[in-house]
Amino acid sequence: MITGGCLCGAVQYRLTGPLGDIVHCHCETCRKTHSSAFSSVAAVADEDFQILSGVENLRYFESSPGKLRWFCQACGSHIYAKRAGTAHLILRLGSLDNASLTADNTPCERSHIWVSQQANWYRGDAELPVYDEFEPVTDG
Ligand SMILES: [Zn+2]
Ligand SMILES: [Zn+2]
Repeated sequence: MITGGCLCGAVQYRLTGPLGDIVHCHCETCRKTHSSAFSSVAAVADEDFQILSGVENLRYFESSPGKLRWFCQACGSHIYAKRAGTAHLILRLGSLDNASLTADNTPCERSHIWVSQQANWYRGDAELPVYDEFEPVTDG
């Protein structure tokens, strides 16, 4: 079972269902939030995400109207984001426990998005598709 948590260990979670494909988001909001070149994220259905401990440590920042970014108040690790009216959350993959990942439960990297706002000093990744903003919506 996939597990994860924050840097200080107060917030621990587990997934009882699958993780969606991995997307690396370069939007300015993600860069500033994580203070890094990009944020690696994947979708998890609400019912498949279970906080095991530290829920009292979770705080949020509303980075755009209706979008809450949840983090540990003690260590600052961002855990997930949630947009109002959706049935899934966007997990911050840096919080995953490597030891819980196997060949069977680890999703594949799909793309880099919002590269129109990419850090000037980031030299890019030639192996994955890149999109100026969100991935184009496709059927299915
Ligand atoms: Zn913490
Ligand atoms: Zn972003």
